[in-house]
Amino acid sequence: MSAVPYAYTDAQNHRLTFRPTTGATGRQYVWVDAENLAVGGATASAWLTIEQARALDLTLANRFAAEFTDHMGDTLGVRPADDFTPFEVTRAGDDDEGPETVRVVVLTGRLPEVRLALAAVADQAEGAHRPANELLAEAREAAADMFEVEVGERRPMWRVIYTDSESPTGVALVCTAEGADDEHHVIDDGSGGSTRDDQGVYDCCPSTQFETYSTVLAAYVVEVLNADAERGDSV
Ligand SMILES: [Zn+2]
Repeated sequence: MSAVPYAYTDAQNHRLTFRPTTGATGRQYVWVDAENLAVGGATASAWLTIEQARALDLTLANRFAAEFTDHMGDTLGVRPADDFTPFEVTRAGDDDEGPETVRVVVLTGRLPEVRLALAAVADQAEGAHRPANELLAEAREAAADMFEVEVGERRPMWRVIYTDSESPTGVALVCTAEGADDEHHVIDDGSGGSTRDDQGVYDCCPSTQFETYSTVLAAYVVEVLNADAERGDSV
C-alpha cells in the first residue's frame, strides 16, 4: 500500500504531494501540490478530477507528455524523458499576481512508485464519497435485478450441490419443483427406504449453478447469499 498523502522531494528540494480532497460541490479531486521548500519558495497546486488522475497515470505509463487543466485554470504538465520526468504545476495568474510555475523533477526510475501513489490517492478520493456499504447496496440491487430476469425472483434461495465431483462444492438455486417433478429429489436410502436428496441436481432443477471447487467456499457462499436473500430489501 502506498501512503496517502504521498510526497516526493527532488534533489533541488522541490516537493510534489498528492492527496485526496473534496471540492465545494462535493466532487472529489486529487490535489497535486508542487512546493519549492526553500524559504519563501513558491507553491502551486492543481486539482485533478478522478478522470484526469487516471489519464495522468496512463500518460506516465506510456511516457507521453501531457498537460491537465483544472477547474480554476491551474495546470499540471508532465514531460517524461529517459532519466527525469519533470512535473510542472502552474498556478493561473489573477488580478493580484501573475502565473507561477513550480517544477519538481522526478527520477524516471521512481515513476512506478509515483504512479502507485497517484492511483492509491485517486482510489481513495473516488471511494471517499461512496462508502463501502453504499457500494455493497448497489451491488445487491444489481444482483437482484439480474436474478429477477434470470430466475424470476429478486432474492432467491441457494443450496450446496454435488456437481460432477465427489464433494459438495457446487452452488445452485434451491429447486422449487413441485408435484411429480419433486420426486426427482427422492432417492433410495440404501436400506429399502427413501430419503430426500437436497444436494443433488435433476432435470427439474434451475440451471443456475456454479462450481467453487471448495466445500468450505460453497458452504460459505450459500450462507452469505441466503442471509442476503432473507434480509430482503430492508437493508
Ligand atoms: Zn429439482
